[in-house]
Amino acid sequence: MSEEIFKKVVSHAKEYGFVFPSSEIYEGLGAVYDYGQNGVELKNNLRQYWWKSMVQLHENIVGLDAAIFMHPKVWKASGHIDGFSDPMIDNKDSKKRYRADQLLEDKIERYHKDGKAQKAADLQQGLDAALLDNNLEALKQLIVDHEIVCPVSGTRNWTDVRQFNLMFSTEMGAMAGAEDNKVYLRPETAQGIFVNFLNVQKTGRMKVPFGIAQTGKAFRNEIIARQFIMRMREFEQMEMQFFVRPGTQQTWYAYWKEARMKWHHKLGFGSEKYRFHDHVKLAHYADAAVDIEFDFPFGFKEMEGIHSRTDFDLKNHTELSGKKLQYFDAELDENGKAYGNYIPYVVETSIGLDRLFLATLCAAYKEEQVGEGDTRTVLSLPPVLAPVKLAIFPLTKKDGLPEMAREIMDKLKYEFTCFYEEKDAIGKRYRRQDAIGTPFCITIDHESLSTQTVTIRHRDTMVQERIAIADIQQLVQNAISWKTLLD
Ligand code: ATP
Repeated sequence: MSEEIFKKVVSHAKEYGFVFPSSEIYEGLGAVYDYGQNGVELKNNLRQYWWKSMVQLHENIVGLDAAIFMHPKVWKASGHIDGFSDPMIDNKDSKKRYRADQLLEDKIERYHKDGKAQKAADLQQGLDAALLDNNLEALKQLIVDHEIVCPVSGTRNWTDVRQFNLMFSTEMGAMAGAEDNKVYLRPETAQGIFVNFLNVQKTGRMKVPFGIAQTGKAFRNEIIARQFIMRMREFEQMEMQFFVRPGTQQTWYAYWKEARMKWHHKLGFGSEKYRFHDHVKLAHYADAAVDIEFDFPFGFKEMEGIHSRTDFDLKNHTELSGKKLQYFDAELDENGKAYGNYIPYVVETSIGLDRLFLATLCAAYKEEQVGEGDTRTVLSLPPVLAPVKLAIFPLTKKDGLPEMAREIMDKLKYEFTCFYEEKDAIGKRYRRQDAIGTPFCITIDHESLSTQTVTIRHRDTMVQERIAIADIQQLVQNAISWKTLLD
């Protein structure tokens, strides 16, 4: 059932100009997608929701837009060159490549479905232990012991498990081939923040605790890409690094955990759709980590990570660059002594914009019965996030109705995104707007000419009412105010 809904959401996304496969006329490019005319608006609005809540509403958080290319040493210091890899395994017959841990997770799921709870628990335990020790032989052994077959060839003819680094690299400058010219496409936006820590702290006269927020593209050469825009090779992250006094990281970790969950709940899709998932295997930089998972049609999956990253990054950049990434804290502790110089600890929140987009589409997508034997597809988006806020329809193409409609459009288009259409029956036009989540449609009819009123139709209730043209702007603006989400 859920799988069926997911298929519908994916085809809806394509049909209504939200998401297209990249380079589709050439059969697409694996796990790369383009956002269409409605997708780009929704994505921009989701990004704004995050940005406003982080930067506009926190006096001690400021923004940054760092470049995608960074000095190669950044990735040495961050641990990505040595450690940012997934365990992969190839099937020798089909020549297909898999993530070893995902093959095992799929097997666990199958055990559960077949009612073999004990086998599932045993395998889970083995998988956790192998991942914790980075034990590639143990992973291979589990694949052999549990008789996992390649879904394509159906055989158990596997290679050994190897580590596969997920960073894309390219060459900078004219001297192709020289190892010195190798640069990476950033696999996370966070490092742009760490290397600018002093620039921002000094020029912004920021005092600990403070945060730096950034949104932007990140690139990962995922071994296998699955589930539409869930796992992409080029995607967008929204990250915030919060710099705190050493020893206070647990308090701030708890604070951001709660704040981020609240932010998700505000979208109004139902709090039961979200849950926390504590990490068993902590990343090389973390002393605590939790995911916020969303109930996608294919199950609960990670949407955001909250990580207590210690002083790992700033310390390593200090060592490798020779620049002291420290903070002088003039405030006094309980003994009346200044805290002095230290490397701040960091609590980060990191969310994938594309996963948030997918969660939003899945949660907002509804098929409703309207009247006898009729259905409609509606995206019940929070109005402030909708790609189009107001659709403007003259009832007919003559008698001065289009002119009047245009006049209204010309006044309102500066305030919010409007869409004008005069083709097709009005019911059809309403349905097309329902399908992209437009909260309001107005229709200009003959009565409008004499009374200066229009019919306004509400997306969710489909209720239509007559209002004065002079009142349209206020009505829409109240409904699409950022306060509806941020307050
Ligand atoms: P996963 O376990 O799903 O690979 P991760 O734990 O590696 O994700 P992080 O490194 O914590 O992810 O990245 C932060 C966020 O970036 C994730 O919560 C997710 O929303 C997003 N993200 C990570 N990888 C991808 C991807 N390949 N495609 C889309 N979004 C991604």
